[in-house]
Amino acid sequence: MDIITRSVKSKAVEILSTLVSFPVLGGESNSAIAEWIESYLTEHGIVFKNVHDPKENKRSIHCRIGPAVDGGVVLSGHMDVVPVEGQPWNTDPFVLTDGGDDKWYARGSCDMKGFIACCLAVLPDMIRADLKKPIYFAFSYDEEIGCLAGDALAKDIIEYYSERPQFAIIGEPSMLQPVVGQKGIVIYKTTVNGSAGHSSRIRNEVSAIHEASRLILWLEEKMNTLIDAGHVDYRFDPPHTSIHCGKFLQSGIAPNVISDQATFYWDVRVIPKDKASNILADFTLYCRELEGKNKKRFPDFHISTIESHPDVPPLDTPDHLDVVKLIRKISETETLSTVSYAAEAGQFSAAGFETVICGPGDIAQAHRANEFVSNLQLGKCVAMLLRLVDISCA
Ligand SMILES: [Zn+2]
Repeated sequence: MDIITRSVKSKAVEILSTLVSFPVLGGESNSAIAEWIESYLTEHGIVFKNVHDPKENKRSIHCRIGPAVDGGVVLSGHMDVVPVEGQPWNTDPFVLTDGGDDKWYARGSCDMKGFIACCLAVLPDMIRADLKKPIYFAFSYDEEIGCLAGDALAKDIIEYYSERPQFAIIGEPSMLQPVVGQKGIVIYKTTVNGSAGHSSRIRNEVSAIHEASRLILWLEEKMNTLIDAGHVDYRFDPPHTSIHCGKFLQSGIAPNVISDQATFYWDVRVIPKDKASNILADFTLYCRELEGKNKKRFPDFHISTIESHPDVPPLDTPDHLDVVKLIRKISETETLSTVSYAAEAGQFSAAGFETVICGPGDIAQAHRANEFVSNLQLGKCVAMLLRLVDISCA
């Protein structure tokens, strides 16, 4: 590590220790951490823009460094973290702790305040440099509870600036390996309304539990049918779209009473070639078929499905795009990979950015006790961003 990289990395550690001291969980107000970042930007003379959530107690931040010309790069990260309750932490999760093993421990150190800290630490170099292409920061909230802010943030950047930024680098933990593919996810909630009655009359009434069970098995069959029809993508593990019911709300009141309502949640994690909306459309057709059959016995029989978490689209960035050339150059890594976790990358891609994921730390450390990011990864991330500054001056 050269002397400049080392001093910027020290600055990144200092900033990281402040960022992790704001225990902003997904779903909570992020005002405290947003205010700190905003005042840091203001101190450096950077004008920023907020994208508020409808209740106004949460906000994303974006800003531009450099000239208002097309072809800039957005560096994006989320400010929220996951909870620590029930996890066996050896240190205070909201105090950045030097483990003496070249690792920095804290909630969010890896996922993903480490990346944000590196961006902010490199800011003075970005300002000093004679940038010919702009660099943008885009920091979101509520990523950890379903990427709730990414879509609006990406679209606001496109609308707000007169010039057109071209690339987005999402700094999710990838050990600084360029990631070009990611599965999408959507969660649905389905409610079945049947008719109550004595259990002996099961052939006269319509049990909501029985009909809901048919629907869940249909979903499993749908997944298998897609696999059999060749809907696979071996860049992912598992290589297919998964459909799964993980929560069946307590239904029914007694063993001898036919249940009149059943609710279940199911998630769909799509490979890029599949669309959750197509699966939902087929599911809805099957629901209509069941309704037609059961309305003969119970005219008010009804099945409804809503999105319980918004559709987070997959990422599928083709190798030939310029963003791949860019990330290979600045990360000094040729190999491209894919991930099965959901992130805001698909949302930036859908908004029109050429998008990749590349950030410090290992996703294996995320969301668990004693989360850490290594000194080496922070140093490499700073070096990557300094290379981006260099390239943006050409
Ligand atoms: Zn994350």
